[in-house]
Amino acid sequence: MLKSVIIGTNGTLILIRTTIMNTTITINILGTRGSVPVSGAAYALYGGATSCVSVSCKDTRIFLDAGSGIICAPCAAEANVAVMLSHFHLDHMIGLPFFKTLFDKKSSVAIYGRMRSEKSLADALQVLLSPPYWPVGIHDYPADTALYDIEPHFSFGDFTVDTMEGAHPGGSTIYKLSAGDKSFVYATDFEHNEIVNDELIHFAKNTDLLLYDAQYTESEYQPHFGFGHSTPEVGIRIAKKAGAKRLLFTHHAPEHTDEMIAALEESIQKEYPFAGFAKAGTEIILS
Ligand SMILES: [Zn+2]
Ligand SMILES: [Zn+2]
Repeated sequence: MLKSVIIGTNGTLILIRTTIMNTTITINILGTRGSVPVSGAAYALYGGATSCVSVSCKDTRIFLDAGSGIICAPCAAEANVAVMLSHFHLDHMIGLPFFKTLFDKKSSVAIYGRMRSEKSLADALQVLLSPPYWPVGIHDYPADTALYDIEPHFSFGDFTVDTMEGAHPGGSTIYKLSAGDKSFVYATDFEHNEIVNDELIHFAKNTDLLLYDAQYTESEYQPHFGFGHSTPEVGIRIAKKAGAKRLLFTHHAPEHTDEMIAALEESIQKEYPFAGFAKAGTEIILS
């Protein structure tokens, strides 16, 4: 944006031209699948890797969740890197041992997680990354690693980070990452109910992009009540009330093939063109 300001001083007009750089957030969808990775031609379009989204601004790069999608992220050696976990269910953690930046001795990685089921982040990593499940611990990787508890509001590099608690077995953290006047809300492993819906509407107010858990269709939801996931219909209601500019569904059910998701997406977009299903490999720029 180029801004011109004219100021009169002692009868002299001064023209000030200021270039105001808009803040740009780059979002890379790396993993979209819920519960367990899937593979094969039937999943090539929307993706088979589990939850991971890379969110970058300037030299800061935050990975939301470390599902198998994080494996395809190149080493982020030059960046200020954090991995922020929504919770410790395996589908959100299984890519962490293969995260390339951990193998770079010049890199530092900040890992954030909240106490879940009386297990701290350190406890959870100790279980996941120790024999007989894995040969080395998190601090044995070449990169410097530091573990942090999640506060409701904090900063990391060029982002401010807000969090709220989602409804999910054992809990889950919903994130809002903001830089300048742009924001992105990551709400996966979220089951709707009246209380958390209102909280999320408030939390996601006017966000540029809401990524929302829509693992189930409406007909699939009832038999899975209490499993901790939601539906596209509820996501649309929340996004509309929040004034979210764009809505993407994620945590696709392992049983949902590209054909099924594409048909669902087509019918939803006839009425709600601002909504769609996240595809792994997609880059979205908020500017
Ligand atoms: Zn999950
Ligand atoms: Zn979960």
